[in-house]
Amino acid sequence: MVGMPTPEQIREALTRVIDPELRKDIVSLGMVRSIDQPQPGRVDVVVSLTTPGCPIRNHFQQAVTQNLTALEGVTQVNVGFDVLSEQEKQGLAQRLGRQGGLPEGALARVKNIICVGSGKGGVGKSTITANLAYALQVEGRPAAALDADVWGYSIPRMLGVHGRPLVSAERKILPLDGPGGVKAISIEYFLNERDQAITWRGPMLHKAIRQFLEDVDWGELDYLLIDLPPGTGDVSMTLAQLLPQAKFVIVTTPQPAAQKVAARAAETALRFDLEIAGVIENMSGFTTPTGERFTIFGEGGGQLLADQLDVPLLGKIPLQEELRVCADEGRPLVLDDPDVPAAQAIYHAAHGIVAATPQELPVMQAPSGPPVPQVTGTALPMAR
Ligand code: ADP
Repeated sequence: MVGMPTPEQIREALTRVIDPELRKDIVSLGMVRSIDQPQPGRVDVVVSLTTPGCPIRNHFQQAVTQNLTALEGVTQVNVGFDVLSEQEKQGLAQRLGRQGGLPEGALARVKNIICVGSGKGGVGKSTITANLAYALQVEGRPAAALDADVWGYSIPRMLGVHGRPLVSAERKILPLDGPGGVKAISIEYFLNERDQAITWRGPMLHKAIRQFLEDVDWGELDYLLIDLPPGTGDVSMTLAQLLPQAKFVIVTTPQPAAQKVAARAAETALRFDLEIAGVIENMSGFTTPTGERFTIFGEGGGQLLADQLDVPLLGKIPLQEELRVCADEGRPLVLDDPDVPAAQAIYHAAHGIVAATPQELPVMQAPSGPPVPQVTGTALPMAR
C-alpha cells in the first residue's frame, strides 16, 4: 500500500488520543483492540471501552478520526467499539496504579464506605451526605463524614463542627465529633485560615486524600460517607483507586437533562468496577403549606438514571426550606425536625443504603494491632 502509514505510525498517532478521565493515552491504557488497513487510504480501529455505554465514546470517535486523518495517505477512518473483559479491566486498574493501594489494616474497622457523588455542584450532595450520616447514626449505625469536596468543602458548616483535630499518641489524626457523635474530617480543619482557597491538584491532592483514609483514626464505623467533589476529577479517581470496596451513591436533580450529567459521575465508579448502591433524587418538587405541589426542577430524572444504571432509586428528597436553613446553621434537619417530609425522605434513603450494604467487616481483616503506615512527607499543613 504505497503512501500508507505503517502500523507503528498509526499506533504512534493513537498515543495522542487521551482518555479525558484517566488522563492517559488509549495505547498505553491498552484500549486499542485492533488496527486494520483493509484498503488503500482506509484505517479501521477498534477501541475497547470499560463499559458499553461509555459516554466518552464520541470523544474517542472524533479524536481517533482526527489524529488518523492527519496522517499522510489516510482518507477514511472507521472507529468501532467493544468492551474490555473483566481480566482486561483488572489489568487497566493495575496500570493505573491500584497496586499502590492503602496498607493492609487501614479502614479495617469500617464496615462500609459510601462515596456520594454528583455530576455537577449545587444539587445538594453535601447536604444529603451530612444528613445521611446523622440518619444512620440515629438508627444505631455509627457513621462519619469525610469531606473530600476539597474545593467546595461544606461539611463542617453543615454539621456545625469546626476546629482542629488532635493527633493521638499513635500519630493518628482524630476526627472531630459532631452532635450525636458523628465524626467528621474536612480539609477545612487543616487550613490556617478559614475559606483559604485550595489550589492543589494531582499528586498533592492524592496525598491529602490518602492521609484522610490512612492516617485518620476513624475507629469502628458502620458507614464512612465520603462527600466527593462534583464531576469526575482527580479526587474521585484517587478514591476509586484506593477504595476498591467502596460503593457509590449518585445524587441528581429531577430534570431529565441533569441525569445525563450525573451519569458521568457514575461512570468513574463503573470504570473502576465499584458498585453503585443507588441514586438519590434531590429537589424533587416543592409542596406548599396548603398541599399544592410544584415540580420546580422537573420530574423523573432520578428514576431515569436509576433505571439506566440498573440500581435502586433510594429516595426522592423534596425541596424544603428547613433543610437549607438547618444546613446553613450547622444543624442536621434529620435531628432537628425528623418528621418533616425532607427528613423522612432522607431516613428512607438511609434505610435503602443499609439494605444495600453488608453489616459485617470487610473480609480483608487487619492483623491485630494495626501497623502505623510510614508516610513520607505530609500533604496536610497540620501536625500540631
Ligand atoms: P452540593 O454539595 O451538591 O454542591 P449543597 O449540599 O451545598 O450542594 O446544596 C446547595 C444548596 O441547596 C445549599 O444551600 C443546601 O442547603 C440547599 N439544598 C440542598 N438540597 C435542598 C432541598 N432538598 N431543599 C432545600 N434546599 C436544599
